[in-house]
Amino acid sequence: MTRGLIAGCKHETNTFSKLPTDLAAYRARAFHLGDEVPQALAGTRTEPAAFLDFCRREGWSAVHPIYADATPSGRVTEEAFDFVAGRIVDAITDAGGVDAVMLSLHGAMVCEHVDDGEGELLAIVRRRVGPDVPIAATLDLHANVTQRMAENCDILISYRTYPHVDQVEIATQAAELVKRALAGEIRPAVHIARSRLLDGADHGRTTAPGPMTEVLESADKLLAAPGVLATSVCAGFALADIHDTGPSAIVVGDRGVAGAPYQDMAAGLMDEVWDSRHRSTVQTISAAAAIERIRAAGPPAKPVVIADFADNPGGGGYGDSTGLLRAMIEARLEGAAFATIYDPASARTCLDNGLGAIVHLELGGKLDPRFGAPIEVRGTVKAVTRGRFAFEGPMAAGTRIDMGATAVLQVDGIDIVVTSGRFQAYDQMFFKHAGIDPASRQVLAVKSAQHFRAAFAPIASEILVVDDGGGLTSGNYKLLPYENVRRPIYPLDLD
Ligand SMILES: [Zn+2]
Repeated sequence: MTRGLIAGCKHETNTFSKLPTDLAAYRARAFHLGDEVPQALAGTRTEPAAFLDFCRREGWSAVHPIYADATPSGRVTEEAFDFVAGRIVDAITDAGGVDAVMLSLHGAMVCEHVDDGEGELLAIVRRRVGPDVPIAATLDLHANVTQRMAENCDILISYRTYPHVDQVEIATQAAELVKRALAGEIRPAVHIARSRLLDGADHGRTTAPGPMTEVLESADKLLAAPGVLATSVCAGFALADIHDTGPSAIVVGDRGVAGAPYQDMAAGLMDEVWDSRHRSTVQTISAAAAIERIRAAGPPAKPVVIADFADNPGGGGYGDSTGLLRAMIEARLEGAAFATIYDPASARTCLDNGLGAIVHLELGGKLDPRFGAPIEVRGTVKAVTRGRFAFEGPMAAGTRIDMGATAVLQVDGIDIVVTSGRFQAYDQMFFKHAGIDPASRQVLAVKSAQHFRAAFAPIASEILVVDDGGGLTSGNYKLLPYENVRRPIYPLDLD
């Protein structure tokens, strides 16, 4: 029986964050060992679920030692990395070896002891299984892909959607190639190209025609060439101050086709990404401008959705920056709801005082004073929850999360979801689980850059994206103290 190893270790590391990503940070998001992996993930819209399904369909046995995912934050601790790598290596040993490896990675993991986290992990797995066992890895579209990653696996494919809604499809595609490699039909190898870019392809957005959809079309056309097995374009994750940060193109080619120009194909895709560097499908505005626009338009028939781009926990933002929320409170925006403010102490105060209590709080703004002081508020506790629910929207549907003690605090008519965990609010359940019906609100504010569109665009009359520089995920990279990225690079040095 074919034995397939399925494992996952994900992190998008914002090296400018002071929050270390330790095992506790993984446990706070997703940390499943052994049989917990299928128990927690089977049937969800995730890569491990797709790998498990594939093994079942093919009659393979699945070895699944670990799946770990943490909300983006600072460098992954050496202890956490060693734990994950150790679980995978030990599982291979305990199984008496495996025939194939299928890993669900992010591609932008930076550790305390090594900048290229996935390159290191893949090298460890390659050393353990040897050169002949096919290794496939799936990546997030925001991976910072390295040569070391390419050299230590056979198949490397990234998502093609942002918001990311194609995890199952990409993992299935990777598994199909593993099967063909095992059958001896193909001998895949990974080729990558990069460019002098910190960020590219419009952050990878695929919700409107633009640089990303165009370069993906070009990538698709390459699939007709002899030997081309898979093509990917990664937009990169600019908030990692390491040598390899930036967008990349990946071409998986069959070594059996002599002289195929896979490397040139990848380079051609990167030329397109370079040429489109000045184009964006989204214009950010200030919080003040967003509020002025909402006021001028009058009560909307459907919610206006405001995205707090600069403090997106999904990119390593602390999730407690107060700029946008303060502006909304000062403007007394009617019928508004806000998800979420990360503030465990305030959530605890709300729970301790109980439903209906009036509380005085210093809300948010605890982690970094540069991104706004705490807001002095007097509000009513409208709901208290344990912060546990499953996503229902198009992104990772079925995945369960636990935000810890959570409360809805109503301040001047604005319902604010206050949490004990850092999460990007890209699902309507962040509101619904606390009794807020998002579709009935005039204004919804979410700490998210782009992922929120998957769940909220269908109910929105308009989407406004706010970036005042008030958070760790601002798009203004020139504000950041880069030291290690390749220079010169766009947009820091090149135009
Ligand atoms: Zn991403």
